[in-house]
Amino acid sequence: FFADENEWAMLFERLVKEGVVDARAVRLRTRGGQTPWSLLNARTLMLDDRPTGVLTLADLTEQKRVEERLRRLAARDELTDTLSRGRFFEVVREELSRAARYSRPVALAMLDLDHFKSVNDRFGHRAGDDVLRAIAGLMTRGLRTQDQIGRYGGEEFAVMLPETPLDCARDVLERTRQAIADLRLDFGGHKIGITVSVGVVSTLKGESIEAALARADKALYRAKGAGRNRVVAE
Ligand code: GH3
Ligand code: MG
Ligand code: MG
Repeated sequence: FFADENEWAMLFERLVKEGVVDARAVRLRTRGGQTPWSLLNARTLMLDDRPTGVLTLADLTEQKRVEERLRRLAARDELTDTLSRGRFFEVVREELSRAARYSRPVALAMLDLDHFKSVNDRFGHRAGDDVLRAIAGLMTRGLRTQDQIGRYGGEEFAVMLPETPLDCARDVLERTRQAIADLRLDFGGHKIGITVSVGVVSTLKGESIEAALARADKALYRAKGAGRNRVVAE
């Protein structure tokens, strides 16, 4: 009846000892072998002089579904409203397996702000945060809805462009780079400009997201080495 016999044994012991088990989410096992979530409440009482347990179970399937949906929606980076690193990896993994099945190209890019430390040093961390938000907003508006942006690290973003050959991805990111370079943000009368360096690769069939991002990172560091404010496609 209970999916986890040990859990039930533990709950039963507690019920006998304490006379009550309140609002406990448990997995049941149906005859068909499914294991739906259920909310368990239990009491002991005397029935015709015999100690008796009364259990009520409420189906939690719908709540769990909503919870899962909220969890996925919440998987966003608070500062920039891009995907969290974890969610980005999830989304890319799904896309890579789909793309491999249909032999479709997927581009992955790493984008890092240039000399960002000096923005923080000169204008303060809050200004730095505003710059990060502005860049994320610009990228979100500039890319297609099926493209995905994740906050990879402090001032690094990862971008996935599904159905996009490498030369096309390079052009898209080149436009993004230019739009960011043209941006001017006002901090107490100071106009701040910022540039980004980008490395972009086309994922290989069967390649892991980690391996593809490592290649994109290499391309990014070549972009840095070549003077920053540029896109390197490999
Ligand atoms: P490079 O062109 O080589 O990338 O130089 P850089 O200064 O951008 O690189 P570095 O890695 O030395 O510095 C990154 C800085 O990003 C350091 C850190 O203070 C800042 N940073 C990371 N996350 C955040 C954040 O969430 N908010 C702010 N304001 N700054 C951040
Ligand atoms: Mg960095
Ligand atoms: Mg940087």
